[in-house]
Amino acid sequence: MKKIKNALVILAGGRGKRFNNKLPKQFNEINGENLIDFFLNRIETNFFDIILIVIRRSDQKYLKNLKIKYPLLKLIFAQAGKNRQLSSLNALKKLNKYKPTNVLIHDAARPFCSNKLIIKIIRSLNKNKSAIPYVISPDKKIISKKEFNKTIKLIQTPQGFNFNTILKAHEKSQLINAKDDSILINEKELNFIKGEKLNIKITYPEDLNYFKIFLKPIYKSGIGYDIHQIDTNKKTGLKLCGIKIDFNKLIGHSDADVGIHAICDSIFGALSMKDIGYYFSNKDPKWKNKSSEYFLKFAKDKLKENNFFISNLDINFICEKPNINKHRKKMIKKLSLLLKIPEKIISIKATSNEKIGFIGDGLGIAAESIVQITNEKFY
Ligand code: ZN
Repeated sequence: MKKIKNALVILAGGRGKRFNNKLPKQFNEINGENLIDFFLNRIETNFFDIILIVIRRSDQKYLKNLKIKYPLLKLIFAQAGKNRQLSSLNALKKLNKYKPTNVLIHDAARPFCSNKLIIKIIRSLNKNKSAIPYVISPDKKIISKKEFNKTIKLIQTPQGFNFNTILKAHEKSQLINAKDDSILINEKELNFIKGEKLNIKITYPEDLNYFKIFLKPIYKSGIGYDIHQIDTNKKTGLKLCGIKIDFNKLIGHSDADVGIHAICDSIFGALSMKDIGYYFSNKDPKWKNKSSEYFLKFAKDKLKENNFFISNLDINFICEKPNINKHRKKMIKKLSLLLKIPEKIISIKATSNEKIGFIGDGLGIAAESIVQITNEKFY
């Protein structure tokens, strides 16, 4: 049998009372990954010959992805104990038959630990019985004037141990509810190493905001184009980007707002949806003379459902008349209200068709729109 050198224990049996949520914090998902997925997906799991997760049986359903992801790796489970100390002990007892040389005991609530720290701990265990990461708190605890400059040191996980050292320490421990494994071993076996400031423990719901530091925002773009014919018999009734303009109406099944139609299609494109005609067919009497603002609201709701926000919207009109620039400001204001986005990220431009073709003859108005969307709201 291959010698098991390094084992990793992830303690995921806690309930996290301070998290104030029915779902234990370690199983909350951020972009489809819970805290355990997030940690294991970013570290080099090849450092470990065995990974043991301490979990309640009823919570094992949250780790389905993990079981598929690591079929070749030795992934085993141990039952969570009544408290952290007992969970740790359960893990060590279960690992005992594999006789690992080292064990790293980690809290599932610290998903941001880096490979660098893991390597440092494993290396340190070549020479020491333990490797306990710590950080110095920038805040100082004032006990007395004399101790004014005393720095507070905060202990982190993963904590690395020689396996036999920590197993024995647990077995003969006088403590019954230790919040930390390093507290159980002899002073002389304690070896502290520098931890990482970003190896934060997720404790309160607002701590989930820390994921923003580690997750790169997603950007997607979409393009939309539309064209409608000018109704030369109707001298008024034109609507562009929701603004009434004193000019010939456009021919269409709905209100023929060519600007909004192009915007809708660009949003649908960015969301990898179908085109506007699929959702609002011009054969369906339901949409006859319908205000296009309704279609735009539909597109806006789809953005919300998919957790995306518009980061830039660029619209281009192609027509000989009317003079779009005269109505630019009003259109931007209207779109800003309809889409609930800042005016500064909306651009409306116009070009003529140099008297060429159908548009050049003043028979139609075309509009194109390019939208960029992101999953990170910045306004
Ligand atoms: Zn249209």
